[in-house]
This record gives sequence, structure tokens and C-alpha cells, in this order.
Amino acid sequence: MTTADSVPPSDFIRDIVSADLAAGKHSQVVTRFPPEPNGYLHIGHAKSICLNFGIAREFNGVCHLRMDDTNPTKEDVEYVESITEDVQWLIRGWADHVLRFKKPGSGRPEAVSPAEAGAEPFYASDYFERLHDYAVELIKAGKAYVCDLTPEETDRYRGAPDKEGIPSPYRDRSVEENLDLFARMRAGEFPDGARTLRAKIDMASRNVWLRDPLLYRIRHAEHHHSGRQWCIYPLYDFAHCLSDSVEGISHSICTLEFEVHRPLYDWILENLQVPQPRPHQYEFARLNLSYTVMSKRKLMQLVREGRVSGWDDPRMPTICGMRRRGVPAEALRQFAFSIGVTKYNGVTDVAVLEHSIRTHLNQHALRRLGVLRPLKVTLTNLPENHSEQLAAINLPDNPEAGSRLIPFSRHLLIEQDDFMEIPPPKFFRLRPGGEVRLKYGYIIRCDDVVRDASGTVVELLCTADLDSKTGGATSNRKVKGTIHWVSAPDAIRAQVRLYERLFSVPEPDAGDGNFLQHLNPDSLQTVEAFLEPSLAAATLEERYQLERVGYFYLDKESQGQNPVFNRTISLKDSWSKGTAKA
Ligand code: ATP
Ligand code: MG
Repeated sequence: MTTADSVPPSDFIRDIVSADLAAGKHSQVVTRFPPEPNGYLHIGHAKSICLNFGIAREFNGVCHLRMDDTNPTKEDVEYVESITEDVQWLIRGWADHVLRFKKPGSGRPEAVSPAEAGAEPFYASDYFERLHDYAVELIKAGKAYVCDLTPEETDRYRGAPDKEGIPSPYRDRSVEENLDLFARMRAGEFPDGARTLRAKIDMASRNVWLRDPLLYRIRHAEHHHSGRQWCIYPLYDFAHCLSDSVEGISHSICTLEFEVHRPLYDWILENLQVPQPRPHQYEFARLNLSYTVMSKRKLMQLVREGRVSGWDDPRMPTICGMRRRGVPAEALRQFAFSIGVTKYNGVTDVAVLEHSIRTHLNQHALRRLGVLRPLKVTLTNLPENHSEQLAAINLPDNPEAGSRLIPFSRHLLIEQDDFMEIPPPKFFRLRPGGEVRLKYGYIIRCDDVVRDASGTVVELLCTADLDSKTGGATSNRKVKGTIHWVSAPDAIRAQVRLYERLFSVPEPDAGDGNFLQHLNPDSLQTVEAFLEPSLAAATLEERYQLERVGYFYLDKESQGQNPVFNRTISLKDSWSKGTAKA
């Protein structure tokens, strides 16, 4: 069996890391995962997490969790907390030993284990004072200036790749004037948008990111981490490379859209007195998944408009949504490794993710019996008070998982689908006069049916062949079909939530951009199910396969007497065959 944990993948980034270590460029690999706390993490982030933590793990390095929090108006502690929890959940037992937080109060940030008292994630906002000093250093070197153009003018002057840039009329301010204006920006003398600090690079560059990019802007806003200390905030390009440098990051890995920013990343570090060796940026293709939207803005819209129950709705592609649905962290990691790391943008079929989930659950989910749409069966040759316990194994091919007893009685429930009065050819389940084996139990024969006033079959009258008990001395008789069942008086009732894909088309983002019109109206169906009594003791530590039905996980908000189970995934991919049914 190969797992994400046993076979380290290889790709162009790992090759670079390996070569850098061999050449002695860095004494230790230090990566970082730098989410902006403006939403919840999704499966795309999981790819980045597995890459950054995976590299640290494979090369004896460490990986910093850093909040990339330079935009006060969109960020919140709620997101900081969920991100921290999701990252730790995803890497638990695999790479938690390489996760580093910041030691509290350390001037030059010291990386410590999250278990250390007072440790918290790294925050770019903790470096605001240092970033400010670096900005002053650039001004003093004549490499940054305060610009009074409005945001619209700035855009217009910048031009486009095929359109020349026009230098700002403020470009040649003296160092003294720039220092004075920048200090007054910081002191709060000017309103939002009145002035910016810009790098003085090259207005004629073919790369528009080098046409005097903005370094700082004015935002009179409270910041979730730094409070009201600042009214000027650094932009991503200025903050990111310097945060990497301050933390001693060796390999700064991001998605391809930042490739065009890389010359700016390097320019800033080359033009400041920063410690050696400097960090370097590498880019890989982001994950796109079919039937899924992944931008935080769109996921936020689904939540705000009540299209889903929240960020952790089990239909969401968020890490917390998938966790609540019962997707194991190992399956997500296996998925991340199976898709690999490349420089080519594409769309990954969501079936690949589903395959990773099924493969893991097939090996690990405890087998149980449960009926979603019940049909009564009465075994007429058993006495009313018949009560028997049948042995059932918990995991095929895994004796260590042990076995349990399930109650068997005269009154059973089977799945409506497992009976047909006039069945098609090759229907090996129950029919009038036909036989079927009850899983872990006896062969039964359907002798008669009971109908309601409308003629619908509501009960089957059957006889059990008492010599045919599974595993019994006289059990060598074979029938073609085996079905699941529960003992009606012993079954527990549970609400079962059956999930399907949230969107009904492969690329909900394509076209006119109105992704909401592609929401699948049948993405959630709720049924009252009947489960074998052992499931009263279900826990969030375990995942379950209801045999022949699917994989299920206890909902985290489930209350003792009224359990709720989420279907993680069906047993087989019925979607691609066009036979999807809840
Ligand atoms: P969004 O555009 O949805 O807001 P983002 O890319 O801005 O997402 P960040 O919080 O900045 O989200 O991302 C943190 C890290 O995760 C970044 O390094 C980013 O490159 C990476 N990341 C984000 N989305 C994906 C994805 N779909 N595939 C791989 N990596 C991703
Ligand atoms: Mg971002």
C-alpha cells in the first residue's frame, strides 16, 4: 500500500530545494504557508499546505504558518482562528513536527513549536515597524517617493504591457521632502487615498509590476492584529518578500500568477540591506477543480446569501467543510500528492479527489448496517420474541479491527430498492418467491406481500432458512444476492444528510460569471434512517461505511439521542454514468 506518508513525491520545486541544499545555499529549508485571513481555507490551499509542509518534512526543515495580513478592511480574527485550526488538522500526525509558530515578544521572530506557551502564528503585521524602516531606507537611497496621484491616475499613468507608462509628476521629489511626507502619512495627516509611497524603478519596463509599484497606501482602519497603531499599510509585494526575509525563509513558494511579481520581489530585497542568504520565490500551478468554485470571494457569497449553511457546510470545498463531511486529512494529502506540482494551469477532475477519499475510506471505515428507505420484513417462521445476536466483522481483511454483535429478530427493515415485484433480468435481490441472504445472517425467501390501500407494497412476509446462518455449520447453501438490513425493534433512528456536488456543471465559473445559476438544486437531501444500535456510540474519531449504502460521518453538531450523519461520499461514482441519485 502506498500512502502520501510513505512515498515522497518528486517535482521541479523539490528538485530545486534538493540542489540548493547540495550546493550549500541554505543550512536549512524554511518554507512558509502565508494565507490572508480574509476567508476560510479551501482545497486549493490544501495543495499549497501539502507542498510547503511536505518539503519541510522531507528535507528536515520547518514551515512557518504566517498570516499575510496587510489589508485591514477585509481581515478578521475569525479567519485567523479557522486557518490555524484547519492547517493543524490537515497536517496532524504527518508534518506537525515541522510546523513553526512565533515565540511571543521575540524581536527578531523566533520560530517555536506551537506547543510552546504563548506561541502564535507569524503575522506579517508584526513586522510593520520593520517594514516601515525598510521603506525609509529606500527613500533615503532615492529609490522610493511619495506620490500624490489618485488611484485612478496611478493606473492610467502606469499604462499596460503594450502601452507605455508615464512617469508620475511627483517622481523627482527630494529625499527630504519624501521623508517628511512619508512621516506625515504615518502620523495620519492625510485622508485615505491622498498619497502613496512608490518604488522608483522603471516606468518603461515591459513588466508593468516594475513601473513604480505602490509600496504603501493610507487606510484609516482598525487592524485585527495591530489595532489602531497604523494608518498606512504596506502592499503585498513590499510586505511579502520582506516578511520572508525577516523570517529567514529559504524557498518562498506561491502560485503562478505571482511569476510576474518575481522581479519586484527580487528588486526590493536587492535594494535593501537584508540578511544573506536571501529568500527566493518559486511558482507552481494553482489547483482548479471541476464542479467547484474556489475563490474566497465566491465562497463568501455562498455563505452570505445563505446558499449553504456556513463556511463548514459539508458541500463547501473548504477544509472545514470537508472535515465536517468526514473527509479524512490523509485522503486530502494523498490527493494533493497524486495531482503533483507543475507549471501548467489546468482543471483537475473532482473525480480524482473523490477517488482518494473512497480509497482511504474503503481501507479504514468501520462497516455497519443501516437502512435509508425502509421496507418492513416479517420473518413468519420466527416467534414474536425471537432475539439473537449475529457476529459481524468491522473491517474486511483486517482482523485487528475486530467484530461486533448485531441484533436479529422477527421484524426487520430492508432497503425499498432491494425488493422488486417485477424485476428486470439480473436482479439478484428480493422478489416474490425469490431468495436473498441477509448480510451476516440467514437466507430468506419472500412468500407474500402486504399492500396498503393504494396497492403499494408496504411489507414482505418471508421465511428464514434457519440452517443457512452465515459462518454456521450448515451454511454452505449459496444464493446470488446479499442485502443489508436492521432489526426493526433494535434500530436507532438518525437523520442522514445525503450530499451531492454543489454545482451541476463542470465549470461553474465559466461563461458569464453568474456561477449561482449552476447551483445543483439537489445537492442536499435529508432522510430519516434506521441504523444498527452500535452506531449510538458513533464518535468523531471514526468513519463508517453503511454497507452497500455509502460512507458516513457523525455530524459535529449531533446530539446524543438524535444523531445526525453526513454522507461523506457514495460507494461508487454514479455521477459520471448519469445515474446520480441521492
Ligand atoms: P483567493 O484568491 O481565493 O482569495 P488567495 O490565493 O488570495 O485566494 P491566500 O490566502 O493569499 O489566498 O493563499 C495562501 C496561499 O495559498 C498562497 O500561497 C496561495 O498561492 C495558495 N493558494 C491559494 N489558492 C490556491 C489554489 N487554488 N491552489 C494552490 N495554492 C493556492
Ligand atoms: Mg492572496
